[in-house]
Amino acid sequence: MDATAPDLQPVLRGTIAAATDGGWTSLALYVLAAVAVAALAGLVILIRDHVRLERHAAKLRQDQDALEQEALHLSESAERYRSLVEGQDDLIVRRDGYGRLTFVNAAYATAAGKTSASLIGTRHALPIRETLPPRPADGGAVAIDQQVETATGLRWISWIETHAENGRLGRETQWVGRDVTDRRLAEAELAEARRKAEAANEAKSRFLATVSHEIRTPLNGILGMTDLLLATRIDLEQQTYVQAVRTSGQALLSILDEILDFSKIEAGKLDLVEQPFDLAALVEGTVELLAPRAQGKGIEIASLIRSDLSREVVGDAARLRQVILNLAGNAVKFTDQGGVGVSVSRDGDRVRFSVSDTGPGIPADRLDRIFEEFEQVDGSASRRHEGTGLGLAISRRLVAGMGGELTVTSETGRGSTFSFAILLPQAPGIRERPPAPDLHGRRVLIVSRAPFEAPYLRTRLAAAGLRIDLQPDVATALATLTPKAPFDIMVVDGAVGEDDARRLAAAASAAGVPRRIVLLSPFERRSFGPPAAAGFDGYLVKPVRERSLLQQLDSVHPIAPKVRTASRPAASPTVTGTALAGLSILLAEDNDINALLATRLLQRHGASVTWARDGLLAVDRFRDSLETGVRGFDAILMDVRMPGLDGHEASRRIRGIETEYGLPPARIVALTANASEDDRREALAAGMDEVVAKPVDEPSLVAAVAAKTPEALSA
Ligand code: ADP
Repeated sequence: MDATAPDLQPVLRGTIAAATDGGWTSLALYVLAAVAVAALAGLVILIRDHVRLERHAAKLRQDQDALEQEALHLSESAERYRSLVEGQDDLIVRRDGYGRLTFVNAAYATAAGKTSASLIGTRHALPIRETLPPRPADGGAVAIDQQVETATGLRWISWIETHAENGRLGRETQWVGRDVTDRRLAEAELAEARRKAEAANEAKSRFLATVSHEIRTPLNGILGMTDLLLATRIDLEQQTYVQAVRTSGQALLSILDEILDFSKIEAGKLDLVEQPFDLAALVEGTVELLAPRAQGKGIEIASLIRSDLSREVVGDAARLRQVILNLAGNAVKFTDQGGVGVSVSRDGDRVRFSVSDTGPGIPADRLDRIFEEFEQVDGSASRRHEGTGLGLAISRRLVAGMGGELTVTSETGRGSTFSFAILLPQAPGIRERPPAPDLHGRRVLIVSRAPFEAPYLRTRLAAAGLRIDLQPDVATALATLTPKAPFDIMVVDGAVGEDDARRLAAAASAAGVPRRIVLLSPFERRSFGPPAAAGFDGYLVKPVRERSLLQQLDSVHPIAPKVRTASRPAASPTVTGTALAGLSILLAEDNDINALLATRLLQRHGASVTWARDGLLAVDRFRDSLETGVRGFDAILMDVRMPGLDGHEASRRIRGIETEYGLPPARIVALTANASEDDRREALAAGMDEVVAKPVDEPSLVAAVAAKTPEALSA
């Protein structure tokens, strides 16, 4: 029962009781009371219901307010979204599955030159001029760049394509397109600028190549003439002057060579050959080439080729030599104290070459710049070192061509190390190193302060199994040489000075060291006197060659009376004057001076020479020599670059004439300033037998004409 309703049961019970026992007055009173109670109860119920209704109405009013608020929000954000889409510079367009437009924004309508309303429902599309391949964009979308015709002209639009489900309209595709015309124009301008710069660079390289080639020809004449002049009877003073002309000419020639080389590499004409060569011989030979210059200025130069490397490898030996020569040449040029070391070691499957020096170093802020062309750390007009600033630029490109990277580390005041690693596969089927003498377990005392040769010697000898005591200090070394000293060999660097070397030799002799060797540079050798007189039983020339070292140490018996080994290679062979005796030679050369030069040179070796001023004349002379019954020419010296008929064509015609007459081919030697592999191939393809580079080196030319090697000629 409801708690708030008045309880009528007692009232009814009282009324019935009053009616039965109290008479009509009481009954009437009771009835009245009952009616009053009932009315009160009804009133209470009414009031209660009214309160309930009031509450409900208030709640409804609240809900209505909230809904109205929400509706307002929604319409505000819809408006905001619409104005956002409309206000976009990007073109926005949606199509249904049938390609009909379901939405376009104002930007798209403007581009189409129509109203949005007129576009909806149509299949309108902006006419396309060019489409670039699609590329993936963020969030799995696809981006497509198109050049389209718009009402305001041709524009590049970059579209992002996405797909969306749109209720009753089904699946839609949306494109948002950004106008990238300015960016594309800038890119195109950049590409054009790059193309022009490359073309200009190529033109520069061609120009350099042509100019240096043109300068080479007269220079060739100057150098050749000085050689001829030096061979005549001139007094000492005149000889000095001619020698000076020659030296300057040669310096000019090497600068030209660098410029030519650089321009060729720049023009992408870097032809690398793959040939087997002896790695140690190449490195040691290059270092020996620089040794006189280094030792002449009182610094050392040494090389170390790690014993775990293959001896014969495949690569471009000439280009590798050029790089090492350049790096080590720089190191010698810039170092005034200490020395230069060239080391070759294994670096994974590559061979690493490192050229270190104890020179002035390179300031950190210049380290990258030195690899750029015409860059020098000291660019002032009064700079101490000559050079073009091209060497490192060429070397870096050559190393890159060989698949490596030339890098440098340097510390100012302490020195620099240039290094690169390249692939040099082992040559197939090539003999490996012949076994070195077995010196395993022998004890060696090395006395040397040389920054490179000393540690290099230690490494080499340790690799050969010897036990080494390296002493940079003479006093300590002398103290080690007690009669009980168990040394088998003592190696003394001549740089310690003759007096100290003598003392060491005497102490070693007294201590019973059976083998005593002194290391001497050719300069030290001159001032040192006979090593035997100083108490040594052998000497080695610095820089020390690997094999000479082990062979020289391999002697159990003490004191050979005479000095034995010198590792210096034999002087370059001199050509005898009769190598071409009796040969009849046709010389095709358009330059008068070069022709005179070659004629004198060939005549000096016993040949008779017929000169033809150009290719056509050469072919005529050749044919004449056959028709007049005179014996044909034994050899033809053919300049490659001649006006009219060039050397290649002249050679082809001469080969044709020989076939016509059924004659064996005469030897044709090409003379060319461009002695690259391509030039060589071209000359051989034209029927020539040999190529000699200008300026002509006398022994090489004579050997080429005589079809022998310079060594064979001098033998
Ligand atoms: P060049 O030697 O003809 O000047 P390079 O390109 O070979 O040209 O060298 C560029 C510059 O780098 C040199 O002028 C020199 O300043 C610096 N450089 C090269 N090698 C060394 C080195 N070993 N020690 C100090 N400076 C060096």
